[in-house]
Amino acid sequence: MPTAVISDIHGNAVALRAVLDDIASRGIERIICLGDIIGYGPDPLECVDLVREKCAWSLMGNHDFGVLYEPTNFNPGAEAAAYWTRDQFDNEPDDALRAERYDFLGRLRVRVVDPELGTGNGDAGVLCVHASPRRPINEYIFPDDATEAPEKMAAIFERVDRVALCGHTHVPGVFTDDPDFFPPRELGDPPRYKFNDDEKIVINVGSVGQPRDNDPRASYAILHDGAVEFVRLPYDIDATANKIKSIPELHDWLGDRLYDGR
Ligand code: ZN
Repeated sequence: MPTAVISDIHGNAVALRAVLDDIASRGIERIICLGDIIGYGPDPLECVDLVREKCAWSLMGNHDFGVLYEPTNFNPGAEAAAYWTRDQFDNEPDDALRAERYDFLGRLRVRVVDPELGTGNGDAGVLCVHASPRRPINEYIFPDDATEAPEKMAAIFERVDRVALCGHTHVPGVFTDDPDFFPPRELGDPPRYKFNDDEKIVINVGSVGQPRDNDPRASYAILHDGAVEFVRLPYDIDATANKIKSIPELHDWLGDRLYDGR
């Protein structure tokens, strides 16, 4: 069964709805989320409610953690956004709904081995984390690490059986244990990477709500038949950016960066 993998929504409900519509139009019924549902964006409640409704499960990202517990190593803009986001959850007037949302956030896992994402070779499933297999909530795996940090990549791949999924950097692509990195633009049209038996890979699915690979379109991935396909979708950036600019606690730059994908 094909599974759509979304990540790093960051409170951008307009982008999330565009992605969910595209997934539905392809007849894909199973969706999983790698975390950072909230933080930065103007629609945290709507995004949490959509993920609760549509996804089989979700992981906890560093921003979900930051809103629920405490912002860790956040820059001032991200920290202000985290506190504003927490206020939106706190200010929900419906007691039951407020409790349900906090319960959902509190139960997000940091690491899942999903057997339904089996790669077809009798393995237990695919390891799913928000950030990295070594440090599931906070470690960044940057594209440059493939060439500049071979020891870091080796330590990360030690924790991968065969295939892992992550988000966190908001830069989609496939890391191999060579080590190497392949951005979607190097993977054909549509961009697709087939798993093979003699390598391990870590797939970054990119960001739904705040892409940072200089392509402002929403990013997600589809896992099917032992391969990953990367998808990009335009959405109404004005709608999200204007909402951000109307909220004093959210820095204007959080809207501006959406236009450039950075
Ligand atoms: Zn993120």
